Amino acid sequence: IDPADHVRKAIRSVPNWPKPGITFRDITPVLQDPRSFRVLIDLFVYRYMRQRLDLVAGVDARGFILGSVLAYELNLGFVPVRKKGKLPFDTVAEEYSLEYGNATVEMHTDSVRPGQRVLLIDDLIATGGTMVAASKLLQRLGANVVEAAAIIDLPYLGGSTALKETGLDIYTVCS
Ligand code: 5GP
Repeated sequence: IDPADHVRKAIRSVPNWPKPGITFRDITPVLQDPRSFRVLIDLFVYRYMRQRLDLVAGVDARGFILGSVLAYELNLGFVPVRKKGKLPFDTVAEEYSLEYGNATVEMHTDSVRPGQRVLLIDDLIATGGTMVAASKLLQRLGANVVEAAAIIDLPYLGGSTALKETGLDIYTVCS
């Protein structure tokens, strides 16, 4: 079986969550099953092991799970892209719009040194707003964002296309 198919089959679709008409793609079964978790992480490991990365940046909160395991396996450091108000030290912030209202992501000002090669990772790309905001933060800190990776792309929302138009390289395991 193709590794990406293995992962895809473990993703659970939950209809009408968090609200009617939305189908939520739930990755918790992928993490819970040791084989699919390993297949997933190994897909990222093999993709990035020869990219001479310096850091993995994971997006709050599921990007922390993927990003920290991947960073450990690649012998890299991990830095969090957090929701507003969680980081204790000096921060940079980037606001972005959601369907209703706004959200803000933050990073510590010293989390990346200029020129460092950073992989950005989250679980899913929907509208792409979160990834765009996170990559802007990283770029403001001088990072070279080598790629933005996720398990799932929802192409009908146009997020991955919009991200590519900003010049960012994208990798997703499945759509
Ligand atoms: P975007 O900013 O691309 O519109 O939304 C992506 C963000 O929302 C990601 O951080 C992701 O975790 C979360 N998200 C939105 N929809 C889903 C979904 O169906 N499943 C999962 N696992 N996360 C989602």
